[in-house]
Amino acid sequence: MRFYEIREKSESFAQVYSTPEMKFMERCTACGRGGERVPPLSIKFDRRNIPDLSFYPPDILVTDRVKAMFEQQGIRGVEFLEVSYQGDPQLLQGKRIWHFNVVAKVKASPECNIMLLKNCEVCGRKEYSTWDGGLIASQEDAKRYDVFRIEEHWGYVFINERVKKLIIENDFVNAKFIEDKEVKDTLAWMRPKVDY
Ligand SMILES: [Zn+2]
Repeated sequence: MRFYEIREKSESFAQVYSTPEMKFMERCTACGRGGERVPPLSIKFDRRNIPDLSFYPPDILVTDRVKAMFEQQGIRGVEFLEVSYQGDPQLLQGKRIWHFNVVAKVKASPECNIMLLKNCEVCGRKEYSTWDGGLIASQEDAKRYDVFRIEEHWGYVFINERVKKLIIENDFVNAKFIEDKEVKDTLAWMRPKVDY
């Protein structure tokens, strides 16, 4: 089965911004991890057109058009959460915006050679090495979902062929697709080195 990372296609659409009302997870005093946004996301857009899919890594926002189609098709692995929209109502042009909250987590395939580097005793968060080749999901795990994140590197959102087709056929704008075996680690330079 084929999987694709989904990300922003063009920066010509409206970008998402946090507003001061946004809440964040507390940082762990031991490992410093944390700081993730806590739903409901409190957001606004700049004054350009709002696309069907907006990427605000690691979060994704979608219009109600996307939500309706995904729900109708019974897409597995995602839930739609309300957002607290703080911008100019006119910019929405009658659309409603939802937080596309990916709930499914799938382990990376052993071929990625991802190693556990740190396991925080205080908060339980794990830190993993980068990967070899692409970021590939374990097939057994992944086939239970249509949308998922990788447990070891959860900043990336993956979809299957079915969801890719749905997005293309419905002209949902602003997504591009990168095959899992082509996904490179853009943060590799800041990860701790592995001692062999
Ligand atoms: Zn910690």
